[in-house]
Amino acid sequence: MKISDLQISQVNKQIQALVKAESFYGRKLEEAGISGISTPEDFEKLPFSEKSDLREAYPLGLMTVPEEEIVRIHSSSGTTGLPVIIPYTAKDVDDWGNMFRRCYETAGITKSDRIHITPGYGLWTAGIGFQNGAEKLGAMALPMGPGNTDKQLQMMMDMKSTVLCATSSYALLLAEEIEKRGIQDKVCLKKGVIGSERWGEKMRKRIKDELGIELYDIYGLTEIYGPGIGISCEHDAGMHYWDDYLYIEIIDPVTLRPVPDGELGEIVITTLVKEGAPLIRYRTHDLSRIVPGECPCGSPFPRLDIIMGRTDDMIKIKGVNVFPSQIEEVLRDFPEVSSEYQIRISHLEGRDTMRLYVETDGTVDFLDLAKRIATTVKSRIGFTPLVKVVELGLLPRSEKKSRRVIDERYE
Ligand code: ZN
Repeated sequence: MKISDLQISQVNKQIQALVKAESFYGRKLEEAGISGISTPEDFEKLPFSEKSDLREAYPLGLMTVPEEEIVRIHSSSGTTGLPVIIPYTAKDVDDWGNMFRRCYETAGITKSDRIHITPGYGLWTAGIGFQNGAEKLGAMALPMGPGNTDKQLQMMMDMKSTVLCATSSYALLLAEEIEKRGIQDKVCLKKGVIGSERWGEKMRKRIKDELGIELYDIYGLTEIYGPGIGISCEHDAGMHYWDDYLYIEIIDPVTLRPVPDGELGEIVITTLVKEGAPLIRYRTHDLSRIVPGECPCGSPFPRLDIIMGRTDDMIKIKGVNVFPSQIEEVLRDFPEVSSEYQIRISHLEGRDTMRLYVETDGTVDFLDLAKRIATTVKSRIGFTPLVKVVELGLLPRSEKKSRRVIDERYE
């Protein structure tokens, strides 16, 4: 998507605010001799920003307005080192709520719905984002937070929740519990808003079939408001994103040059009206593409395809670049395996080895299945993994983001 004149003038204002505040990025821009932009070419010369830089601004170096105007902070998880702190003004919180309300509306959710929110509340942007959006919409929010499956299901039945907000792995866990307990008839769910991690077609189908609901993918990240900056519509043809708040470009993660619409690359986001902590050309490391053309739903908002992986998920094994999504694609052709899988990479006797764990039920010959999967991976991706077939239910189901790839070479 080419940047519009309006977006250029908005980016210009963001740059001026950053420089004026002498915030972390303001100083960086000043050092690079940048005080503003006036053309798309100027925009493409702006430096990128990165999560690793944001940590250097800890705790409040990103703050771009006087502290009296900050009403809230959120923080993104730091699995390694310092977390990133994002300050929000009242307008930022309001803008985020409006974007989220748009997400619910795009999914056909109305104020008559009862929205069951299982993502976590706290420093995270997750739960509270779903909550703000539900309140803006005027729907009834059930601020459940994660965990305690018994209570989740009880409230879901008693309160007749119609919309489930969850990560894909937690939605799957709930779907399996509902089936196990035989309480499908007492559950009134109609739609699921599923966010925060990449998930395969197979998992989607299982959640959809077991719960009998329509699913919508929601996108977002703490550094850029939080969840709610884009969502899929009923045509399930990519996620509409709000280009009046954000400018999104897709770049080649190696050359760092923008790629044409339709081509896969890394999502890079620039905020257009953010006050507390504007970000210019923020590298998300999420892989997707712009879906060209108009959506059959008629929405004027452009579309991103669903997230296909992370640039840093790329595994180099025996000289071959592999994305977990490629493995998932192979597994999709084996209806006898479940949607759960795990990849373990290790270095054994001087060689890189991939062990691929999959699940199936007792009706299948484990050894034969392992051999067929290994052969298919070899022919399609170019190396032979060690495939281990285990009993259905043995692989970990997480209430948080699943860790499907474990690289033991670096642990
Ligand atoms: Zn649409």
